[in-house]
Amino acid sequence: MKRILFLMSDTGGGHRAASRAIQAALDELRPSEFSYEMVDMWKDYTPYPLNTQPDVYADWVNNSPHTYAAQYWVNDRVFHLKAISDLYCRFSFLRMKHLYHDHPCDIVVCVHSVFVRPAIYALRRLQLRMPFITVITDYARPPLVWYDSRVDRLLVPTEPAYWRGRALRIPDSIMTITGAPIHPRFTHINMSKAEARVQLGLDPDVRIVLMVGGGDGMGPLVETARAVDSRPLNGELVIIAGRNTEMKAELESIYWQHKAHIYGFVDNMPTFMRAADLIITKAGPATITEAAAMGLPMIISGGIRYQETPNIDYVVERGAGIYAPGPEKVAQTVESVFGDDGTALAALAKGVTRIAEPEAIWNIGREILKYV
Ligand code: UDP
Repeated sequence: MKRILFLMSDTGGGHRAASRAIQAALDELRPSEFSYEMVDMWKDYTPYPLNTQPDVYADWVNNSPHTYAAQYWVNDRVFHLKAISDLYCRFSFLRMKHLYHDHPCDIVVCVHSVFVRPAIYALRRLQLRMPFITVITDYARPPLVWYDSRVDRLLVPTEPAYWRGRALRIPDSIMTITGAPIHPRFTHINMSKAEARVQLGLDPDVRIVLMVGGGDGMGPLVETARAVDSRPLNGELVIIAGRNTEMKAELESIYWQHKAHIYGFVDNMPTFMRAADLIITKAGPATITEAAAMGLPMIISGGIRYQETPNIDYVVERGAGIYAPGPEKVAQTVESVFGDDGTALAALAKGVTRIAEPEAIWNIGREILKYV
């Protein structure tokens, strides 16, 4: 059995979702041929206090978005400097050596930008022979550190991500546009909207608005839900707080005018998306990819500055969603989208097909199989 090592981290839900999606696709393409290990790189292979990143990430982004955005902006420039990039790789070398020692494998798949460079540097320096494949999980403008021409293969989600690679002198021979990783459950689901609603205990005859803030319940989801709830809406709200237990408790303590279904982290997102008429989300790449595959119109309420905001333009320019910054704008938009005879919703549903990439996960799986 071939062993595939995934370099990821539980900062947000996207890296784990991508790893699981790739594993599911490989298991369908070649059943029982692979075993998988997922390593949380921040947690297990960085020194204190960096190793607390998975625990503090959501709080950092929620409570101090400007400092998070600032370090993101700085890193995206500083790592242009070869000396800095090399220093980072050398500084991380011993930890990466331990990584490969602790987790022997036949293929490395990296789904986290921050660890591409140190991991490929160590692999080459140690003269290890396993192929190294990067699968970019950021969407429209992936940060610089994803791109390294020493990898064997670089799989990119969108054309803008490909052109950024070209601008950064990544050879065409190692780069492929596959589409963004998405779990096959989202494309295989053959449940009707009515069946999904029965399964979730939702009213079959009213509009269902799904609201989510990534895997960690980020952004002003509570305020947004309250603003939407204050408008006339022939519908019900489904609000998913993800792993944010405080947010879930706060949502549960609110008196809602409309029927509101509150959840923590759910494991059956395809069912929720199938049941919904509209999703309100931050510009998280995985959620956008999934909603697009399910044909679900989107209202993008915001996103992590620099990291996610380029995704907003990507979605809006292709007519797949509406950008409505802030709770009040979101509420107004929901009202106007639902307020006409269905034309606005139908136009968005059509736009969504322009960014949907149902074949993406199979493209990624087949690319990885070339290295088996
Ligand atoms: N997700 C989930 N259950 C939840 C909330 C989110 O499975 O309760 C998944 C969602 O389907 C997506 C991922 O978590 O695959 C969120 O990734 P995204 O890139 O949108 O945002 P992030 O959490 O990485 O900031």
